[in-house]
Amino acid sequence: MRPLNEQSVVITGASSGIGRRTAIEFGRRGAMLTLAARNEEALNETAEEVRAAGGRAHVVVTDVAEWDQVERLAQQAAEHWERIDTWVNNAGVTVYSLFETLSVAEIDRVIRVNLLGQIYGAKAALPHLRHAGGGTLINVSSEVGVRGVPLQSVYCAAKHGIKGFTEALRMELEHEGANIQVTLIVPSGINTPFFEHARSKMGVKPKPPGAVYEPEVVADAIVFAAENPRREIFVGAPAKSYDLLQRVSPRLVDRMMLAGGHAFEDQMTDSPDSGFDNVFETQGGKGSSRGVFPGRASSWYTRTFEHHPALKAVAAGVAAGSVAALALGLGSRLGGKADRRRFDPRGSLRRTLGR
Ligand code: NDP
Repeated sequence: MRPLNEQSVVITGASSGIGRRTAIEFGRRGAMLTLAARNEEALNETAEEVRAAGGRAHVVVTDVAEWDQVERLAQQAAEHWERIDTWVNNAGVTVYSLFETLSVAEIDRVIRVNLLGQIYGAKAALPHLRHAGGGTLINVSSEVGVRGVPLQSVYCAAKHGIKGFTEALRMELEHEGANIQVTLIVPSGINTPFFEHARSKMGVKPKPPGAVYEPEVVADAIVFAAENPRREIFVGAPAKSYDLLQRVSPRLVDRMMLAGGHAFEDQMTDSPDSGFDNVFETQGGKGSSRGVFPGRASSWYTRTFEHHPALKAVAAGVAAGSVAALALGLGSRLGGKADRRRFDPRGSLRRTLGR
């Protein structure tokens, strides 16, 4: 892997949130960036922020759901910087809704952007990574890519799909002995404009459930992966906890989430939905890295364990034992409670919507 100040890095979803912050962090290390998304004004703002941080930036307006545009992005990045060393598949959108109230067009779009967008990104990037003599493909998934949650069924499907795709591709490349690393990034809730960009059919604006981290924490993990080969990096302890609990007892996780309706209510604010989203078209404007749910500026868990494979293996063993013990204890305490304290999402959403 080349040092970051010699790397040409493509980032999709670079006009906002994690992608934008990641671009700036690469810029601080002197990388050559190709910034992709649909909002040209916000991409140009990001490019200015990258240059101010010490990096170099080139903008290519791209809709990742369109193969021709993704292929053109790769070609333009390779032409502009003479090669591609790292490709970050990060663009994403979501619709907060019960599955049955999603339209077919919304279902298609969420899959096209989140899943096909990353598959197209890999397809377009790989020939250029090979041509450069090797490189890194980084796919941004989510904690809901290791464990599904209600109100985001199709987004969860796309994020689980990214995990399966990443595992299969990694093995093909490893089997061949290709000098290409494939890293899966698994963020917990992050304070980005994602929640203002999301389409909401809940009547209220969505919010991240549980602990939230600032976008720098994910950016830090992505930049780290571009220099240090890693299979996957969980960003924030909550994402790893989901992963471990899910392995121990998926049914217990169902019960924990359903008890009192937390899995629904924790994703809903009290503020009425704005009616604006970026699912089919960009929202426009200058954009921002940060959202309106301030979070933690660092993750001790990620820096300590996810960056160090040996410590991670030890931690996984200890954590699996603790989680199993917790699961057994909780399981016996929760038994049947979820059914008694029944949360009716349809009723609740109807009340929220005033119907
Ligand atoms: P933002 O909404 O802030 O950023 C999403 C980015 O994707 C924007 O730059 C948007 O720009 C771009 N985008 C959306 N649709 C397309 C498209 N069709 N083609 C090209 N670009 C597109 O959200 P985040 O920064 O939070 O999200 C980044 C990634 O992190 C996503 O994959 C998301 O799923 C994931 N993630 C986020 C979490 C969170 O809590 N925020 C938690 C876990 C994972 P534009 O409108 O200009 O196209």
